Amino acid sequence: MGRVIVVANQKGGVGKTTTAINLSACLAEAGKKVLAIDMDPQGNMTSGLGVDKDEIEKTTYELLLGETEVKECLQKSVVEGLDLLASNIDLAAAEIELIGEEEKEFILQKALEPVRNQYDFVIIDCPPSLNILTINSMCAADTVLVPIQCEYYALEGLSQLIHTINLVQERLNPNLEMEGVVFTMYDARTNLSLQVVENVKSNLQQTIYKTIIPRNVRLAEAPSHGMPITLYDTKSAGAESYRLLAEEVIHRGEEEWQ
Ligand code: ADP
Ligand code: MG
Repeated sequence: MGRVIVVANQKGGVGKTTTAINLSACLAEAGKKVLAIDMDPQGNMTSGLGVDKDEIEKTTYELLLGETEVKECLQKSVVEGLDLLASNIDLAAAEIELIGEEEKEFILQKALEPVRNQYDFVIIDCPPSLNILTINSMCAADTVLVPIQCEYYALEGLSQLIHTINLVQERLNPNLEMEGVVFTMYDARTNLSLQVVENVKSNLQQTIYKTIIPRNVRLAEAPSHGMPITLYDTKSAGAESYRLLAEEVIHRGEEEWQ
């Protein structure tokens, strides 16, 4: 049975999409069958995996509204072994359109059922808010992976996120577990990055990945070429770090999920 990991943090710009894209790509590179799901109307995961978001007719929006089946929505990404459920700005309307829908928190979970077992990993990218799209993602997931940017306000909002995860666990998805926290955009030249890591470590009980993602300009450039880092600059520090993260994710799965 595949593991569904949702990459969530209601703060924008912390590296969710970068992590979701490149973790997916590195898991696929390691021979895993992977499905990436773009649940952000910005569609950055979609374009970052080489799919033209404005050309796609069957997106997560049509899927959530029940207008299509998941199998109809599966797109091939630029990475072998990595499929995609694409999104675009249409998805922004879903939040309002789903109001009043029965069991609206579980729409994604139910929609994924027919294909879940075809994949070793499903990686979901979330919008920067705790809205119904994020809640749907958490209800469909086994674990939550939280990227934390190494900056001064790193801890701000984190208690709200953990509170939301706890609420989802209590009321909606009792199987949801914490996958772990991953530090992103680490700058070895500054003391600040190190302080943030130390500070978060001493304030959080959650599992923290040993791999720390460095600030690496190649990671920021890759999406504009429609490629994950493994294809854009396979030997970059960014690519190496996401490969190590993928190894940890695979390894943790082997320890705890069998
Ligand atoms: P989020 O999805 O949380 O909003 P993104 O993944 O889109 O965050 O990242 C925000 C910005 O920071 C993007 O421009 C992205 O290219 C850049 N970025 C993310 N991670 C890194 C990194 N490790 N090094 C350099 N730039 C990064
Ligand atoms: Mg994003």
